Amino acid sequence: TDFQTLGLSDTLLKAIAATGYQTPTPIQRDAIPHILRGEDLLGLAQTGTGKTAAFGLPLCQRLLEEDTRPVAKGARALVLAPTRELVKQIADNLISFIKGSPLRVTTVVGGVSINPQIKRMARGADILVATPGRLLDLVDRNAVQLDAASYLVLDEADQMLDLGFIHALRRIAKLVSKDRQTLLFSATMPKQIEELGRSYLTDPVRVEV
Ligand code: AMP
Repeated sequence: TDFQTLGLSDTLLKAIAATGYQTPTPIQRDAIPHILRGEDLLGLAQTGTGKTAAFGLPLCQRLLEEDTRPVAKGARALVLAPTRELVKQIADNLISFIKGSPLRVTTVVGGVSINPQIKRMARGADILVATPGRLLDLVDRNAVQLDAASYLVLDEADQMLDLGFIHALRRIAKLVSKDRQTLLFSATMPKQIEELGRSYLTDPVRVEV
């Protein structure tokens, strides 16, 4: 299998070539066509499997295909990850996929000052990559509005649960659009993740690598 057969547009295929990826990894091969069709997805995958591109490439493609602009304080897509480092890695990956396009990626993480984040979010973002705690901090300050977010990605969901983010995740899931596509990735599938999947995913495709 190569990237051309997965349904990716020329724009994304060019970005993939520029990144130097030659063959899709198993999770990319299995997940990308489903995500492009708008299906919810539950992915059981470890770090290092290429899961960031597995959700990032089709997410960028769908956002580029829609004729929608981010609203002030809003995000069209929300990606949640457990740590600052992972947020940065995801954002760097996404930026490499959409270089030269008008899409805007913004990050929001704890442990750094909040004011620059408030300022950046005032213009809104196409993709907001965030840790759950700081994101809710911004929501509570009315600096972020999530009701227009029609894509929700939970990355390393088991890690987020281990870090005590379950209540934050439940709150955030209520704030984003009801009419959304949801993608959940986890390295393990404990009962709590199964439950999370049952509450927040609709007829999800399961992909395991
Ligand atoms: P991830 O599991 O998303 O953290 O990705 C692990 C590493 O693999 C990252 O450095 C990616 O840039 C790289 N990678 C992702 N997909 C591919 C691919 N199809 N071919 C080669 N490298 C890749």
